[in-house]
Amino acid sequence: MFDKILIANRGEIALRVHRACHEMGIKTVAVHSTADSDAMHVRLADQAVCIGPPSAAESYLNIPAIISAAEITGADAIHPGYGFLSENARFAEIVEEHKLAWIGPSPEHIRMMGDKVEAKRTAARLGLPLVPGSDGPITDLSEAETVAFEIGYPVLVKAASGGGGRGMKVVDSPDKLGTLIAQARAEAKAAFGDDTVYLEKYLGNPRHIEFQVFGDTHGNAVHLGERDCSLQRRHQKVLEEAPSPALNAAQREEMGEIVRKAIAGLGYRGAGTIEFLYEDGRFYFIEMNTRLQVEHPVTEMITGIDLVREQIRVAAGLPLSVKQDDIRFSGHAIECRINAEDPATFAPSPGKVEHYHAPGGLHVRVDSALYDGYRIPSNYDSLISKLIVYGSGRNDCLMRLRRALEEYIISGPKTTIPLHQALIEDPEFQNGDYTIKWLESWLEKRR
Ligand code: ADP
Repeated sequence: MFDKILIANRGEIALRVHRACHEMGIKTVAVHSTADSDAMHVRLADQAVCIGPPSAAESYLNIPAIISAAEITGADAIHPGYGFLSENARFAEIVEEHKLAWIGPSPEHIRMMGDKVEAKRTAARLGLPLVPGSDGPITDLSEAETVAFEIGYPVLVKAASGGGGRGMKVVDSPDKLGTLIAQARAEAKAAFGDDTVYLEKYLGNPRHIEFQVFGDTHGNAVHLGERDCSLQRRHQKVLEEAPSPALNAAQREEMGEIVRKAIAGLGYRGAGTIEFLYEDGRFYFIEMNTRLQVEHPVTEMITGIDLVREQIRVAAGLPLSVKQDDIRFSGHAIECRINAEDPATFAPSPGKVEHYHAPGGLHVRVDSALYDGYRIPSNYDSLISKLIVYGSGRNDCLMRLRRALEEYIISGPKTTIPLHQALIEDPEFQNGDYTIKWLESWLEKRR
């Protein structure tokens, strides 16, 4: 097992990884920007190295500085968390070239899934159902027109290197196709340095259901069930739950086995998530994420398995600690993403946390790096906390979530706690009756 792990991230996820390391008796190295000198992960880690100024490009994305920090501190492995360099295949290669263990999938698999066109081809080869669309990148307008006509409008233009919902355009009629492809290309070029786009059928009212998968270097592959992440604003997840209110045990088992086989066929190592849209009882693959997801705790709550510990074990060459037959799903878990944002306008609200009190009690988990007096920097993502609640069933979970939200005090910056409080009182939400369109129209009605 490793002796020391460098955590190439910040915020709640850096803390999450630190906790798993210390529980395994592994020392940690925090790296941080000058804006994060007082961050919780920096305070708790065994060692800390400042790797640059506040801008992420010069710190959390600064590969030479991170590798140097690992070398100076004698770390034997790097955990990338999510975001930042977690899905950068070149970084994974550089880590391995420096004789450090990369706590993630092989660079080859990261690269393959990072290109969504390639990912869809691979998914098809592995027997996963796809959203109908272009076979590959769209290179000219007449070809795009033909494909769009065949799959039927509305269609979605998507960026091959896309992420965070950027570079996506819905096209509802042929006359807008050319303009919207050009816009998607420009956006994708600016955001990802790659203007490759492809076309997909735009599904009218699906749910977003994703499966957690895991593979090791001993040929084992498992699935850990699904998460329902349909509650989204601007294609960004707001609240996630496991299991999905839309699936029954038989559907879970059937789809779980399909994704498990796909992962086994790929020879995949580490944690991954296979994302699907789900409509009228059918699954459609959209992408695979080759990292730990923000919403991984809901899976941990219903399976009792520590996903970060498994990632570390697998990277150290050990087998997964569980076989598919050992995995039991029990109860229900919901995660609320709490952002430092105005709950009505979503304008960022960084600044000093005057008073902080986290909820507690049975089955309440808070993954957050906040503390009294902490100053939330304006340079990064606005996610400041994840409140994860477990219950024996969905109703029990909702009752507990209501109680936990009511107890949560973060004074100073505005947060999205009131949004979650209102959301869980909605009868449709309470019935689990929602799709990816639901939250935006709910927000619209509240204006
Ligand atoms: P990104 O990597 O940018 O997050 P995804 O492919 O994961 O892109 O899609 C993000 C979200 O966009 C999905 O959860 C869903 O809400 C919406 N979306 C993506 N593809 C489609 C589609 N073909 N039809 C309808 N909505 C879609």
